Amino acid sequence: KNYTREDIVKLVEEEDVEFIRLQFTDMLGNLKNIAVTANQLNKALENRCVFDGSSIDGFAGIEESDMYLHPDLSTLEIFPWRPQQGKVARMICDIYRPDGTPFEGDPRLVLRRALREAQDMGYTFEVGPECEFFLFDTDENAMPTTQTHEQAGYFDLGPLDGGENARREIVMTLEDMGLIMEASHHEEAPAQHEIDFRYDEALTAADNIMTFKLAVRTIAKRHGLHATFMPKPKYGVNGSGMHINMSLHRNGRNIFEDQKDANGLSREAYYFIGGIMKHIKGMAAVTNQLVNSYKRLVPGYAAPVYIAWSTTNRSPLIRIPADRGGNTRIELRSPDSAANPYLTLAVCLKAGLDGIVNRIEPPESVDCNIYTMSDAERKARKIESLPGTLIEAVEELKKDSFILDVLGKHVAERYIAAKEKEWQRYRAQVSEWEIQEYLYRY
Ligand code: GLU
Ligand code: MG
Ligand code: MG
Repeated sequence: KNYTREDIVKLVEEEDVEFIRLQFTDMLGNLKNIAVTANQLNKALENRCVFDGSSIDGFAGIEESDMYLHPDLSTLEIFPWRPQQGKVARMICDIYRPDGTPFEGDPRLVLRRALREAQDMGYTFEVGPECEFFLFDTDENAMPTTQTHEQAGYFDLGPLDGGENARREIVMTLEDMGLIMEASHHEEAPAQHEIDFRYDEALTAADNIMTFKLAVRTIAKRHGLHATFMPKPKYGVNGSGMHINMSLHRNGRNIFEDQKDANGLSREAYYFIGGIMKHIKGMAAVTNQLVNSYKRLVPGYAAPVYIAWSTTNRSPLIRIPADRGGNTRIELRSPDSAANPYLTLAVCLKAGLDGIVNRIEPPESVDCNIYTMSDAERKARKIESLPGTLIEAVEELKKDSFILDVLGKHVAERYIAAKEKEWQRYRAQVSEWEIQEYLYRY
């Protein structure tokens, strides 16, 4: 929506909005906000709202902590779940330094920078995410558990599907907030769900992912459930992915399509795949940012492990969904919804563009189940694996100067430091598995 400042003032008055949440996302993908009352609206619209960035992950140190919030007027939405008298509205903000320059630690800026490059090449980047999540029971203290009373599976419906009512309300809430909802269904694991909304230009898609997660959590809580986007909350069942469907458009045309090609794909599409495959190891610390992310990327759970692409099979990293023509797209299956969507879309786009600029040919497609291939077979076909742990992924990121550049020095340094610390904290833990496996025998 193309709101002017005057539109916003009018809307806030007419809709009886009492609070305005000024939102942004920190480096680790957490949504943050400060609320101002409606009488501060002008100050907010004049980009004069300041916050202390020193306590925000990945932001400045205490020596330069004042940061300015510049609301993106097009992102104004009212929270349908807050009171309808004295409503609460939000605007997503870009972050600026006191000297009026954009703050390089702002993930939204990282994506904006990548998008500018696409734009210079004449492209718009369209992204359709598929977010999966679990709806678990809460205990008597309202604390989240990994328990569920339901045992439904893929595409099941009520009464087996215990999340039906929550899902319905989530979909309607997000529609009220301007997202175009496409499909929702029970996923394969008990208590696992997927809700898909329509693809959009990448910056809006990333904003939408943040809005989506907030709405899912909020509505689930109203139903006494705990929504989690943790990548692998339970051993032995599927984890939750956030497949990213991508296409590039020029002059309103999808340039990934070419009817003359056997797979219906253009040269650009092949190069884009080539670029992603080239950089995927270095991107993994961004697309799969948690220690836990790597527990999802194991054979047998519909999540990718091997670096390959296919037009049919779902075990590889990259799949080309059957839709062709204007809907031709590349589906990257490794990202999970714990990822920071701004950083994730930035590295995906730039890796793909690198493929186009440098004409990186992808290897031959692998159209069979790679999980069941022997090591020797994979080796013969030169199929490599994704990093197996967070620390491996961090090491790969450090080696990929191209991806480091996409993040920029400020984010890259802080990101790597944060992830190394996270790994060290994890490494020192003694897990339940070790106790089970070793305590008695040794
Ligand atoms: N849940 C699977 C994953 O971890 C994906 C299942 C699907 O293909 O939708 O990526
Ligand atoms: Mg799915
Ligand atoms: Mg998918």
